[in-house]
Amino acid sequence: MVYQHQTPDGQLFDWPLGKVVCVGRNYADHAKELNNPVPAVPLLFIKPASAVVPMTAPFRVPRDLGQVHFETEMAILIGQTLTDAEEEAAVAAIAGIGLGLDLTLRDLQDALKKSGHPWEKAKSFDGACPLSPFISPDGIDLTDCEIRLTVNGELRQQGNSAQMLTPVLALLSYISKFFTLNPGDVVLTGTPAGVGPVRPEDRLVVELAEHLRIETSAC
Ligand code: ZN
Repeated sequence: MVYQHQTPDGQLFDWPLGKVVCVGRNYADHAKELNNPVPAVPLLFIKPASAVVPMTAPFRVPRDLGQVHFETEMAILIGQTLTDAEEEAAVAAIAGIGLGLDLTLRDLQDALKKSGHPWEKAKSFDGACPLSPFISPDGIDLTDCEIRLTVNGELRQQGNSAQMLTPVLALLSYISKFFTLNPGDVVLTGTPAGVGPVRPEDRLVVELAEHLRIETSAC
Protein backbone atom coordinates (compact mmCIF):
# COMPACT_ATOMS: atom_id res chain seq x y z
CA MET A 1 0.00 0.00 0.00
CA VAL A 2 1.31 3.47 -0.85
CA TYR A 3 1.99 5.49 2.25
CA GLN A 4 0.99 9.11 2.68
CA HIS A 5 0.88 11.14 5.90
CA GLN A 6 -2.71 11.60 7.04
CA THR A 7 -4.97 12.41 9.96
CA PRO A 8 -7.04 9.71 11.70
CA ASP A 9 -10.10 10.74 9.64
CA GLY A 10 -8.20 10.31 6.38
CA GLN A 11 -7.29 13.90 5.50
CA LEU A 12 -3.99 13.89 3.64
CA PHE A 13 -1.07 16.17 4.46
CA ASP A 14 0.40 17.85 1.37
CA TRP A 15 4.03 17.08 2.10
CA PRO A 16 5.69 14.09 0.51
CA LEU A 17 7.05 11.46 2.84
CA GLY A 18 10.69 12.24 3.58
CA LYS A 19 13.22 10.55 5.80
CA VAL A 20 12.63 9.21 9.30
CA VAL A 21 15.27 10.25 11.81
CA CYS A 22 15.44 7.92 14.81
CA VAL A 23 17.17 8.04 18.17
CA GLY A 24 18.55 4.96 19.88
CA ARG A 25 18.59 4.47 23.66
CA ASN A 26 16.52 7.53 24.56
CA TYR A 27 14.98 5.72 27.55
CA ALA A 28 17.45 4.50 30.18
CA ASP A 29 15.37 1.42 31.04
CA HIS A 30 15.48 0.25 27.41
CA ALA A 31 19.25 0.81 27.09
CA LYS A 32 19.65 -1.31 30.21
CA GLU A 33 17.48 -4.20 29.01
CA LEU A 34 19.75 -4.64 25.95
CA ASN A 35 22.92 -4.19 28.07
CA ASN A 36 23.81 -1.00 26.21
CA PRO A 37 25.46 2.01 27.87
CA VAL A 38 23.38 5.19 28.01
CA PRO A 39 24.84 7.50 25.35
CA ALA A 40 26.23 10.91 26.37
CA VAL A 41 24.63 12.53 23.32
CA PRO A 42 21.69 11.28 21.21
CA LEU A 43 22.53 8.24 19.06
CA LEU A 44 20.95 8.95 15.67
CA PHE A 45 20.15 6.83 12.66
CA ILE A 46 17.87 7.24 9.63
CA LYS A 47 15.22 5.11 8.00
CA PRO A 48 14.58 6.05 4.36
CA ALA A 49 11.12 6.68 2.93
CA SER A 50 11.22 3.18 1.40
CA ALA A 51 11.02 1.71 4.94
CA VAL A 52 7.69 3.37 5.76
CA VAL A 53 4.32 1.60 5.59
CA PRO A 54 0.94 2.55 7.09
CA MET A 55 0.49 1.16 10.60
CA THR A 56 -3.26 0.88 10.09
CA ALA A 57 -2.84 -1.98 7.59
CA PRO A 58 -1.34 -5.39 8.42
CA PHE A 59 2.43 -4.98 8.17
CA ARG A 60 4.78 -7.67 6.92
CA VAL A 61 7.63 -8.95 9.05
CA PRO A 62 10.69 -10.40 7.25
CA ARG A 63 11.12 -14.17 7.21
CA ASP A 64 14.41 -16.00 7.59
CA LEU A 65 16.33 -12.99 8.85
CA GLY A 66 16.26 -13.86 12.55
CA GLN A 67 14.21 -12.19 15.26
CA VAL A 68 12.15 -9.13 14.36
CA HIS A 69 11.58 -6.88 17.38
CA PHE A 70 8.92 -4.23 17.93
CA GLU A 71 9.91 -0.87 19.40
CA THR A 72 6.97 1.45 20.11
CA GLU A 73 7.78 5.14 19.74
CA MET A 74 6.18 8.57 19.72
CA ALA A 75 6.46 9.97 16.18
CA ILE A 76 6.78 13.66 15.33
CA LEU A 77 5.69 14.92 11.89
CA ILE A 78 7.71 17.92 10.75
CA GLY A 79 5.88 20.77 8.99
CA GLN A 80 8.59 23.45 8.66
CA THR A 81 12.23 23.32 7.65
CA LEU A 82 14.62 23.10 10.59
CA THR A 83 18.35 23.67 10.19
CA ASP A 84 20.49 24.22 13.26
CA ALA A 85 17.31 25.22 15.06
CA GLU A 86 16.68 26.32 18.62
CA GLU A 87 13.90 24.68 20.64
CA GLU A 88 11.54 27.64 20.03
CA ALA A 89 11.72 27.04 16.27
CA ALA A 90 11.39 23.30 16.79
CA VAL A 91 8.09 23.60 18.63
CA ALA A 92 6.61 25.70 15.82
CA ALA A 93 7.70 23.10 13.25
CA ILE A 94 5.73 20.21 14.76
CA ALA A 95 2.79 19.51 12.48
CA GLY A 96 1.56 16.30 14.03
CA ILE A 97 2.05 13.69 16.72
CA GLY A 98 1.67 10.00 16.02
CA LEU A 99 3.07 6.57 16.70
CA GLY A 100 5.77 4.59 14.96
CA LEU A 101 7.08 1.06 15.18
CA ASP A 102 10.86 0.95 14.84
CA LEU A 103 10.97 -2.66 13.59
CA THR A 104 14.42 -4.11 14.13
CA LEU A 105 16.14 -7.28 12.92
CA ARG A 106 17.61 -7.86 16.38
CA ASP A 107 19.88 -10.84 15.62
CA LEU A 108 21.31 -9.03 12.61
CA GLN A 109 21.72 -5.80 14.60
CA ASP A 110 23.63 -7.69 17.31
CA ALA A 111 25.96 -9.14 14.68
CA LEU A 112 26.47 -5.74 13.03
CA LYS A 113 27.16 -4.10 16.39
CA LYS A 114 29.69 -6.79 17.25
CA SER A 115 31.63 -6.22 14.01
CA GLY A 116 31.38 -2.43 14.34
CA HIS A 117 29.28 -2.07 11.19
CA PRO A 118 26.39 0.36 10.61
CA TRP A 119 22.88 -0.78 11.59
CA GLU A 120 21.08 0.06 8.34
CA LYS A 121 20.25 -3.48 7.24
CA ALA A 122 18.72 -4.21 10.66
CA LYS A 123 16.77 -0.94 10.93
CA SER A 124 16.04 0.39 7.45
CA PHE A 125 14.78 -2.57 5.44
CA ASP A 126 11.54 -2.31 3.42
CA GLY A 127 8.61 -2.18 5.85
CA ALA A 128 10.78 -1.40 8.89
CA CYS A 129 8.76 1.66 9.84
CA PRO A 130 4.97 1.38 10.23
CA LEU A 131 3.62 4.89 10.97
CA SER A 132 0.20 5.84 12.35
CA PRO A 133 -1.93 8.77 11.25
CA PHE A 134 -0.92 12.05 12.89
CA ILE A 135 -3.03 14.17 15.22
CA SER A 136 -2.65 17.87 15.97
CA PRO A 137 0.01 18.67 18.57
CA ASP A 138 -2.39 21.17 20.20
CA GLY A 139 -3.15 20.15 23.76
CA ILE A 140 -0.57 17.35 23.89
CA ASP A 141 2.09 17.76 26.58
CA LEU A 142 5.23 16.47 24.86
CA THR A 143 6.98 16.20 28.23
CA ASP A 144 4.29 14.00 29.80
CA CYS A 145 2.63 11.68 27.30
CA GLU A 146 2.20 7.94 27.69
CA ILE A 147 2.80 5.35 24.96
CA ARG A 148 1.64 1.74 25.22
CA LEU A 149 1.84 -1.45 23.18
CA THR A 150 -0.36 -4.49 23.69
CA VAL A 151 0.46 -7.69 21.78
CA ASN A 152 -2.19 -10.43 21.61
CA GLY A 153 -3.98 -8.86 24.58
CA GLU A 154 -0.89 -8.56 26.76
CA LEU A 155 0.61 -5.19 27.75
CA ARG A 156 4.22 -5.32 26.53
CA GLN A 157 5.45 -1.72 26.53
CA GLN A 158 4.38 1.23 28.62
CA GLY A 159 6.42 4.40 28.85
CA ASN A 160 6.08 8.13 29.19
CA SER A 161 7.87 10.86 27.28
CA ALA A 162 8.83 12.27 30.70
CA GLN A 163 11.37 9.40 30.84
CA MET A 164 13.21 10.45 27.67
CA LEU A 165 16.89 11.16 28.22
CA THR A 166 16.68 13.86 25.52
CA PRO A 167 13.18 15.40 25.48
CA VAL A 168 11.40 15.99 22.16
CA LEU A 169 12.28 19.67 21.57
CA ALA A 170 15.92 19.23 22.55
CA LEU A 171 16.04 16.18 20.29
CA LEU A 172 14.66 18.07 17.26
CA SER A 173 17.15 20.87 17.89
CA TYR A 174 20.04 18.39 18.16
CA ILE A 175 19.02 16.46 15.03
CA SER A 176 18.77 19.70 13.01
CA LYS A 177 22.43 20.46 13.66
CA PHE A 178 23.34 17.41 11.54
CA PHE A 179 20.36 16.77 9.26
CA THR A 180 18.02 19.46 7.94
CA LEU A 181 14.48 18.40 8.79
CA ASN A 182 12.06 19.13 5.96
CA PRO A 183 8.25 19.21 5.89
CA GLY A 184 7.16 15.56 5.58
CA ASP A 185 10.10 14.21 7.56
CA VAL A 186 9.36 12.25 10.73
CA VAL A 187 11.31 11.89 13.95
CA LEU A 188 10.98 8.74 16.07
CA THR A 189 11.79 9.56 19.68
CA GLY A 190 13.01 6.24 21.08
CA THR A 191 11.44 3.27 22.77
CA PRO A 192 10.79 2.47 26.44
CA ALA A 193 11.66 -0.94 27.88
CA GLY A 194 9.80 -4.11 26.98
CA VAL A 195 10.91 -4.64 23.37
CA GLY A 196 10.39 -8.14 22.08
CA PRO A 197 9.74 -10.30 19.04
CA VAL A 198 6.83 -9.72 16.67
CA ARG A 199 5.63 -12.60 14.53
CA PRO A 200 3.18 -13.04 11.67
CA GLU A 201 -0.45 -13.01 12.92
CA ASP A 202 0.37 -11.12 16.12
CA ARG A 203 -2.36 -8.59 16.94
CA LEU A 204 -1.08 -5.23 18.17
CA VAL A 205 -2.75 -2.25 19.85
CA VAL A 206 -0.56 0.85 19.86
CA GLU A 207 -1.68 3.83 21.94
CA LEU A 208 -0.65 7.43 22.56
CA ALA A 209 -2.23 8.22 25.96
CA GLU A 210 -5.96 8.78 25.33
CA HIS A 211 -5.26 10.62 22.05
CA LEU A 212 -4.66 7.87 19.52
CA ARG A 213 -5.33 4.13 19.40
CA ILE A 214 -4.27 1.93 16.45
CA GLU A 215 -5.27 -1.71 16.09
CA THR A 216 -3.13 -3.59 13.64
CA SER A 217 -1.49 -6.93 12.99
CA ALA A 218 1.66 -8.46 11.63
CA CYS A 219 1.57 -10.69 8.57
ZN1 ZN B 1 13.93 2.58 18.29
